Amino acid sequence: MRVLLVEDDPKLREQLARALRAADYAVDEADNGRDALYLGQEEPFDVVVLDLGLPVLDGLSVLRRWREAGRTMPVLILTARASWHEKVEGIDAGADDYLTKPFHTEELLARLRALIRRAQGMASPLLEYGGVTLDTRSGQVTVDGQPVTLTGHEYRVLEYFMHRPGALVSRTDLTEHIYAQDFDRDSNTIEVFVGRLRKKLPAGLIQTVRGMGYRLGGA
Ligand code: CA
Repeated sequence: MRVLLVEDDPKLREQLARALRAADYAVDEADNGRDALYLGQEEPFDVVVLDLGLPVLDGLSVLRRWREAGRTMPVLILTARASWHEKVEGIDAGADDYLTKPFHTEELLARLRALIRRAQGMASPLLEYGGVTLDTRSGQVTVDGQPVTLTGHEYRVLEYFMHRPGALVSRTDLTEHIYAQDFDRDSNTIEVFVGRLRKKLPAGLIQTVRGMGYRLGGA
């Protein structure tokens, strides 16, 4: 999954980016409202962490402009003060959740998992399909009850599929959701990741839809 992290405090941003990458997210970072606005309008993020107190353009304005432009990705706002005004304004501006600083990184990660699965209509943090389970909390994957070891990229690909069983997933979708913007993207490597993943999963689970992409499970 791909996350946009918007925070102007360099120490906090670095700490959160590290935690998010350790949790297998592809992370794009912005340290001001103008860059955040641009990235959120141009790139398809699965979730956004948005600090409200930002230089150049404040977080509330960024959020309002995303929503006015029809961007629907889940957004969690970070509020510096325990001010209920800010939370109310944030939620009215289109935020899906909020955290007040200081907070525990684990809580942020749990809330992001919940936002991502709600955006896909999933109720449980344990995703199951065709004998495969993926625990979004621990990152553990099993096939018929047996643990399977995946690389970070393989995990991201599988997680993307498991959040949308039966849906057509193009190579472009995968590329845009498993890499951050500054990563050297190559859609051929997607085929390599899918190929490696298939060898670790039940036969036929990831189907090729000719000329279109892939699909988890049957038609
Ligand atoms: Ca700030």
